[in-house]
Amino acid sequence: MSRIYNFSAGPATLPLAVLEQAQQEMTDWHGSGMSVMEMSHRGKEFISIAEKAEADLREVMNIPEHYKVLFLQGGASSQFAMVPLNLMGKARKADYFDTGAWSAKAIKEAARYGHVNIVASSKEQSYTTIPDRALWELNEDAAYVHFTPNETIGGLEFDTEPETGDVPLVADMSSSILSRPIDVDKYGIIYAGAQKNIGPAGLTIAIIREDLVGHAGPNTPAMMDYAIHDKAESMYNTPPTYGWYIAGLVFDWLLKNGGLTAMAEVNERKATALYDCVDNSGSFYSNPIDKPYRSWMNVPFIMADSSLDAAFLAGAAEAGLVQLKGHRSVGGMRASIYNAMPEEGVQALISYMQDFQQKNG
Ligand SMILES: *Cc1c(COP(=O)(O)O)cnc(C)c1O
Repeated sequence: MSRIYNFSAGPATLPLAVLEQAQQEMTDWHGSGMSVMEMSHRGKEFISIAEKAEADLREVMNIPEHYKVLFLQGGASSQFAMVPLNLMGKARKADYFDTGAWSAKAIKEAARYGHVNIVASSKEQSYTTIPDRALWELNEDAAYVHFTPNETIGGLEFDTEPETGDVPLVADMSSSILSRPIDVDKYGIIYAGAQKNIGPAGLTIAIIREDLVGHAGPNTPAMMDYAIHDKAESMYNTPPTYGWYIAGLVFDWLLKNGGLTAMAEVNERKATALYDCVDNSGSFYSNPIDKPYRSWMNVPFIMADSSLDAAFLAGAAEAGLVQLKGHRSVGGMRASIYNAMPEEGVQALISYMQDFQQKNG
C-alpha cells in the first residue's frame, strides 16, 4: 500500500487508522453481515453508531449538556442560511465579522434575511489581519454575532473568540473545529462541514445552545429548522449515515490519541515549523498574514518568482506531496495541515521546500 501526503484544504486527508478500520468493517460491520452503508438509519446497529459518535464528540470537545449536537447535510454553506433563518427573529439584524472569503459568503447569504452589520472588516488589508479590537462595532441589539475563526482560503485565524456579552456568538468552525480545545460555553452555535477536520464530505455538524433552538420564522423550510432536526435527533429524514459513522471513528481516534490538548500541541508544532521554513527562506517563500493571526490549519505561501510555481508543484507531486496548489483566488501554494496530517508529512514538505530553494534560489 502506498499513501501520499495530501495537503488538500478539503475534502482532506483522514487518519490512516480510521481508513483501515473502515476497510476492515466495510462488508460486515461488527458481525451484522452488512456494511454501514446498507443499514437502516432507524435500525439498532446504526443507532448505536450514531449515539456513540455523539457521545464521543461531546467528550472530546467537552460539550455541556445544555447544547444540542446535530448531524446534518448541506455543508457549511447551508448553515449560512440556517443561522439567520433560525436566529434573526424579530430583530432582523445580526453582526458579522468580515475577515475573508468565507465570512464574505456568510454575510452575502445572511443579507437575504435581514440587516447585516459589519462589526469589523479587514477587506482593505486583503484579509491579512484581524481588525483591532478597539475598532469593533458590536451592537447590543443584534440577534447574534457571526465570525469565522479560521479563514481556510486566506489562512487567517482569530487568536481567541470575540467577547460578545449576552449576544450569542456563532462560529463557522469548518476548518478549525477539533484543532485545539475551546470553551464551548462561550458560543451560541458552532457549525462545521465535516470534510476538513472531521470526516467525509456530506456531513455537517451543528452544536447549538438549547435556548437558541425553536425560533425559526414561519416560512422556514422544515429541513432548515433546527428544532425539527433536534426533535427527530437528526433523523427527520435520512441522515448521511456513512459520514456520521466515519466521523465517529475519527472522534474515537482523537480520544485514543490524547484528545484536543494533544492535537493542539502537535498542530502548533507543525504550523510553527512550516512558518519558520517560510520566514527563514530570505523571501524566497513568503506568507502575508499578520503573525499573531496565522492559521494553524491552512498555510498559504507564495514564491517571490511565481514562474517557478509549476515546477514546485510538479516536483512536490513526484516527492509524494500533493494538493499544494493555492486557492484560485489567492494563487501560489497552500498546505492544509489538519489533525490527520502527520508531523512527518510536514517535515517532508519542509525538506522539499528547502531543497527546491537550494536548486532554484
Ligand atoms: C470549506 C468551508 C466552507 C464551505 O463548506 P461547504 O461544506 O462546502 O459548504 C465554509 N466555511 C469555511 C470556513 C470553510 O472552510
